[in-house]
Amino acid sequence: MSTASIQHYINGQMSAGESGQLQAVTNPATGQVTGQVALASSADVDTAVAAAEAAFPAWADTPPIRRARVMFKFLQLLNEHKDELARAITLEHGKVFSDAQGEVARGIDIVEFACGVPQLLKGDYTEQVGTGIDNWTMRQPLGVVAGITPFNFPVMVPMWMFPLAIATGNTFILKPSPLDPSASLLIAELLKQAGLPDGVFNVVQGDKDSVEALLDHPDVKALSFVGSTPIANLIYERGARHGKRIQALGGAKNHMVVMPDADLDKAVDALIGAAYGSAGERCMAISVAVLVGEVADQVVPRVAERARALKVKNGLEPDAEMGPIVTAQAHQRITGYIEKGVSEGAELVVDGRDFDTGATGEDCREGFWMGGTLFDHVTPEMTIYKEEIFGPVLVCVRVPDIATAIQLIDDHEFGNGVSCFTESGSVAREFGRRIQVGMVGINVPIPVPMAWHGFGGWKRSLFGDTHAYGEEGVRFYTKQKSIMQRWSDSIHGGSEFAMPTHK
Ligand code: NAD
Repeated sequence: MSTASIQHYINGQMSAGESGQLQAVTNPATGQVTGQVALASSADVDTAVAAAEAAFPAWADTPPIRRARVMFKFLQLLNEHKDELARAITLEHGKVFSDAQGEVARGIDIVEFACGVPQLLKGDYTEQVGTGIDNWTMRQPLGVVAGITPFNFPVMVPMWMFPLAIATGNTFILKPSPLDPSASLLIAELLKQAGLPDGVFNVVQGDKDSVEALLDHPDVKALSFVGSTPIANLIYERGARHGKRIQALGGAKNHMVVMPDADLDKAVDALIGAAYGSAGERCMAISVAVLVGEVADQVVPRVAERARALKVKNGLEPDAEMGPIVTAQAHQRITGYIEKGVSEGAELVVDGRDFDTGATGEDCREGFWMGGTLFDHVTPEMTIYKEEIFGPVLVCVRVPDIATAIQLIDDHEFGNGVSCFTESGSVAREFGRRIQVGMVGINVPIPVPMAWHGFGGWKRSLFGDTHAYGEEGVRFYTKQKSIMQRWSDSIHGGSEFAMPTHK
């Protein structure tokens, strides 16, 4: 079978780069190698940064309304090609097609937000701060900025970054995950068709080396990262050492509290979708069910029954509910966690390792398959509670009351998302106010904020000060300038040696 050559995209053109290094790209449903992605050397990164640096002055000078028009055209093209993008996601990531369509749609939301850039860049103005003196602020782009993205959202997470970065006048270098790099090139093509000048959006494929080259490059002014916590931490520290602006979003262990008064049908539906959707490979997946009081005895058997019945198959099959695991290594890592859970004394209620690979069909026998796993009686000391598994494994912790649930969640090192299912307004209100987590859902299992609200966790789920997209995204990609102005008829002669005040 012929394999695709997946290249860099620099200055408006595909480029093989000079490193000569390649990494195989695999369809996780079939286990077949479908492409070879180039891995950038630091010289390749230099070429991309030089192209982005050269494109910056003219793009930064382009009126925001004209930059917005490119975004509007891009939006139209995205809508025309959204299924093509979703298919590219499914073929390299494995998630089911309808979920990939959802990913593209949530990315498109951010492009719609970025279309409003003239309004978003409007500054503040104060007339007459002193006699004959006016003061205003404006936000200007930073220069060349970069985005490093994880494998689990190859379209949506880049779209958390580049639409706002570009619309606000920066030039951008995307470094996608080498596990599913093809969508980045479809995006590049659509941006070109939308009329984006060459060099404004570039893609360098690669892994650790290219990220380090971007972090160390003096002309890269800011870097957005989304991925695992250990790497997010490294990126934040190394970038800060070089004086760069960094937002680094990390890993998660998202809890869903089920209160005794919750609508249990809806809570069970929510747990199944949020724990096993996208094979649990979502930073907002629910991986811990916190079952309060007597609900545990009702929830666990119902979740178990549904987990056993999950339709795990090639994501391109119309009725698939869960696809394969992204790589053989990830499959092995998740299996290792299941073994650890058993050895540490958790009760294994449903074992995803029992999944019959043959059930996925002839051409999928070599894929990286696993069913949903459910553990009960998990305690906070266990590894499967503490660490992010990033697979279709749901662990249940039983607690006596809401106060213990909140304490449990607050003591966890991650603070990305959390959810509480309850019919009580006062429990919901207290939960929302007290919990030490960045994104909270009340009867909403995966509370990913809308494009204009911004996305970000707390604690070791985010390093830096600003959340992704929304107004915080605009602030991240721009710097504020304040101008104070007066004209000669209001300038009194003579030097002043005291701080000017309103006398
Ligand atoms: P990852 O950390 O392995 O990789 C993320 C990116 O960093 C990739 O582009 C990768 O090529 C690069 N990278 C890997 N090792 C590196 C190194 N040593 N130095 C520099 N760069 C390196 O993450 P992943 O496996 O692709 O994605 C899954 C992780 O991402 C999970 O932990 C998940 O929770 C997290 N995630 C978080 C969010 C969020 O918003 N907080 C969203 C999506 C995914």
